[in-house]
Amino acid sequence: RGTLMAGKRGVIMGVANDRSIAWGIAQAVAAQGGEIAFTYQGEALEKRVRPLAEGIGSKLVLPCDVSDDSSIDAAFDAIKAEWGGIDFVVHAIGFADKQFLRGRYMDTPKGAFLQAMDISVYSFVAVAQRAVPLMKPGGSLLTMSYLGAERVTPHYNVMGVAKAALEASVRYMAADLGKAGIRVNAISAGPIKTLAASGIGDFRYILKWNQYNAPLERNVTIEDVGGSGLYLLSDLSSGVTGEVHHVDCGYHIVGMKNPDAPDI
Ligand code: NAD
Repeated sequence: RGTLMAGKRGVIMGVANDRSIAWGIAQAVAAQGGEIAFTYQGEALEKRVRPLAEGIGSKLVLPCDVSDDSSIDAAFDAIKAEWGGIDFVVHAIGFADKQFLRGRYMDTPKGAFLQAMDISVYSFVAVAQRAVPLMKPGGSLLTMSYLGAERVTPHYNVMGVAKAALEASVRYMAADLGKAGIRVNAISAGPIKTLAASGIGDFRYILKWNQYNAPLERNVTIEDVGGSGLYLLSDLSSGVTGEVHHVDCGYHIVGMKNPDAPDI
């Protein structure tokens, strides 16, 4: 057990189960002595999140639906009442109606577009509005993005547009919060088989494509993302803000198919 996060407390939002990226980050933070409050969306997920949280010694496990301002208020009020201050927040939350994570992007209706933007982009701002008043210099905010923000990837559609906005949001938030000594970063993770990913059309094909064509010739795990998340949350990255850090086995540097890759 290390001590990189000793004396630090923070909130991890977005654990749905033990395959969640947020859980990979939570395990890495806990292994370095960090104290974690978890939030979950809705009662059905509480049954999964509470035992995981308690298994790594967390006592604060709170409901928070980011589409509802009063729910975010209630979660951060409870955290303030219990702890007074926090050092980090992980926002590993995204949503788009899976009906539109296939077919043409141009067919996205306004309602689905706005919902994806609300839950996947604005919620990071809304969370920061409540979290930052509880933070001191040295604080760190982290969110999760995907390559579909930068380039067209199959079926990612409205989620790609939302992630592009999220990455821009990271830069503007980093500029706003720099004076206060608070850092804001994103990890752009390679594809991982999670609950959220199962909504994306042909996800198995995307996994195979990345595995065969990434320089490291494998897919990332939640442990890979956990290690990089730990870096961005800890003082090891004290000079890093406004960054979108790729944790994708190098896939984002590749320009063409690996000629040695087998057919999928
Ligand atoms: P996941 O399904 O385990 O986590 C998604 C989380 O979002 C869930 O815990 C869900 O409860 C939460 N959520 C959705 N709507 C919410 C709401 N209204 N209020 C509160 N929480 C809400 O899947 P994951 O893949 O671990 O996703 C975490 C983040 O990582 C997402 O932002 C996702 O877009 C991003 N990401 C995933 C991949 C991948 O391939 N899995 C790759 C890059 C980025």
